[in-house]
Amino acid sequence: MSERTAQLNIPEESGWLFVPYSFIGADVCGRKKPQAALLVESMVYSFSDPENSRVCRQSYADMRERLGICNDTVARSIRLLTACGAVEQDKSRKICAEYSHSVPSRGLSGVEVPDFLLTEEFTIRGKKRRDGSVTPQRVRTLRPMEAVILSEIRRAQKNGAKEYATSDSRLAKQFRLNKSTVNEYITALIRSGLLYRAQEGRGCNGRYLSRYAVNEKLLRVLRKRKARENKQKQGKTRETLFSAGKLTDDERARATREIAERNARNAAFDARTEREHWYAVRRQEAENRARRYLRIAEQDEAYSAAQKAVKRLDIAIAKAEVFRLPDLEALRQERLEQCAVRARRLAALHIGEEDLRPAWHCKKCEDTGFEIGTGRPCSCYSPPKGDDA
Ligand SMILES: [Zn+2]
Repeated sequence: MSERTAQLNIPEESGWLFVPYSFIGADVCGRKKPQAALLVESMVYSFSDPENSRVCRQSYADMRERLGICNDTVARSIRLLTACGAVEQDKSRKICAEYSHSVPSRGLSGVEVPDFLLTEEFTIRGKKRRDGSVTPQRVRTLRPMEAVILSEIRRAQKNGAKEYATSDSRLAKQFRLNKSTVNEYITALIRSGLLYRAQEGRGCNGRYLSRYAVNEKLLRVLRKRKARENKQKQGKTRETLFSAGKLTDDERARATREIAERNARNAAFDARTEREHWYAVRRQEAENRARRYLRIAEQDEAYSAAQKAVKRLDIAIAKAEVFRLPDLEALRQERLEQCAVRARRLAALHIGEEDLRPAWHCKKCEDTGFEIGTGRPCSCYSPPKGDDA
């Protein structure tokens, strides 16, 4: 059945993700791996199997829904992971891209993170302030590493211990995080009701361990609810697919068509997301450059004053034009003078007027992907093939 599942591109149904310890906190492309990229990488690792030539065929939408991250973050993570060679993306087939991980063996040790921990929204209770008031509660999904830490405590507990003794500094070392970040995560987990601190360690040198216990009852309720939701969502497709043997030829043809359509929709969505992400990066580049120059200019007091004066005069002139006020000419003259001041200051700072505007990579679409005026998709789109260019 797993073979068929892979062929038909049904969401993998294990209900959990395997996160290898060695993936956590490692560097990618010379910087610390973002937590979202950790999830995407773990997903590819979990669902691909090089020895049995099985690949991960999750679409962007699948990843988004399953990992609780937005489309752009999925696209960014995939680009980062493919650029550093951890993940291979094969787009040669017409349907969704196929992913495989560069680690050849499946023997890494790690922790199982249930899907619902990544997507469920939790109410994080407020904190009591010194004056007795309470900070507002927040409703949010867990940060990826919060889910990993909770799963790790759970794993240790499953191995027989009723409570798990650890300290912030030990967790920090294990997961390559700051001690204060670990403390923040543990606090959030406790305030969400997912974790108990059975016994708090005293002392501050890290040798005193706190004992933690996971709220298994809450997890059970959540897991059941998630399973029910999944069943409802997939019920129809699964029924069609798994009873394929009993279907008439017509029905089987229709089911095959439906699957093909679904795959085509997913592939189109992935391509669109990648395209949007590609343009967003270029736009940002151009805008950042202009913003950098603008910041330098604005730090110059004379420029800043002249710039404010021009803005003020623009409004005054517009008003004078409408009401035909007599001082219109004087205002126009003053504006010209202020513009001259502004230009002189820019020249002194070695900044050109055009530096203050984004220098778009593509003049036709101004890096939006759509030609200005016609709104047609622009021809400048050239995504990197395979390797990041
Ligand atoms: Zn263009």
